[in-house]
Amino acid sequence: MVIIGRVSAADLNRAARSLEGRSASAILAWAFERFAGRRLGLTSAFGPEGCALIDLAMQVRPDVPIYTIDTGHLFAETIAVREAYRRRGANVVVVEPSMTLDRQAANHGPRLYERDPDQCCAIRKVEPMRRLLAGLDVWITAIRRDQSAARRDTPIVGTVPVPRREPVVKIAPLAAWTRKQTWAYLVENDLPYNPLLDRGYTSIGCAPCTQVVEAGAGERDGRWAGHDKSECGIHSL
Ligand code: SF4
Repeated sequence: MVIIGRVSAADLNRAARSLEGRSASAILAWAFERFAGRRLGLTSAFGPEGCALIDLAMQVRPDVPIYTIDTGHLFAETIAVREAYRRRGANVVVVEPSMTLDRQAANHGPRLYERDPDQCCAIRKVEPMRRLLAGLDVWITAIRRDQSAARRDTPIVGTVPVPRREPVVKIAPLAAWTRKQTWAYLVENDLPYNPLLDRGYTSIGCAPCTQVVEAGAGERDGRWAGHDKSECGIHSL
């Protein structure tokens, strides 16, 4: 199977294996060089790992597009940290769902996140992500294997199927990073981060679906509390 240009699935599998153990900077440098001239973008919700990855990526390519989905339910603090990175020169591109919150309420009723968070995420996160991926060849993401069981097998290089064209290459330069390593990078480099992370939140998504967690809880346990759900769906595409 050809992925993009003359890159085959076998090439990507070889690359994924050879990049294990390499630094995040080396993986980013490989990605920018290997896919030069291709439509490449990083996505982030401005969590700690996203902030670290943005800083690392901008050292290799200062104008790399940083796509971020604004669901309309973000914390003010999340928007503030997004704007802090924009002031640092990040090429932040905000992507919004096709359906406005008013239209969603008219079609599905108010507070859909309480009754059917999967449908709410499908409308407010997955739909804009699919649209974004349709215009990209390479997607760089900040997810880490140690964030949750669902992310434990994240490859450094994988693919995401896209309708009616070749798959998008998905690269996770921080796959092997730990939470401790992420925070060390943020602190050592004095990078802006979401102040809610100092107030008991360990993973931050939309305000209605994010709670403070007890000490020692799983990093993503404060997301969709009370629902059998741990992912919004964009990493299952
Ligand atoms: S995280 Fe909550 S509010 Fe945000 S899109 Fe998903 S269900 Fe809706």
